[in-house]
Order: sequence, then structure tokens, then C-alpha cells
Amino acid sequence: MTAKREDAREISHCVLCGRPIAGNEFVETIDSMNYSFDTKTCIITFKKLHSVYGSEFMTDFVNQGFR
Ligand SMILES: [Zn+2]
Repeated sequence: MTAKREDAREISHCVLCGRPIAGNEFVETIDSMNYSFDTKTCIITFKKLHSVYGSEFMTDFVNQGFR
């Protein structure tokens, strides 16, 4: 994954693993922000990270992405 691509279509990516969400999208609201996940496992992992690192981590994480 080296090329930078702008998706014209609105495809959500899991904020944890960065995979495109093709099927069911799990949306979780944390600190008044909506986050999209591809699996419930990612939600659980993300919440664990959130409880450890707090919302600063969340902002960095989402801004940088994981792609
Ligand atoms: Zn995921």
C-alpha cells in the first residue's frame, strides 16, 4: 500500500485496522464522535486502547489513519 488514493466513493474504513468496510459497518460513538469498524473485535480493541491512552490518542490515531 504505497499509492495515495482518494476514494471518490464514500467507503468507510475501519479506524482500527484500516480495512475497507464492505459489508456490515459497526458504528460506535465514543466521546461524542462516531467511529466505524468492520468487526466487533475491532470495537473492543479500540475501546481498550481508548481507556489506556485516552482521547489524545484517539485524535492522533484517526488523523494519521492506519493505512
Ligand atoms: Zn477493523
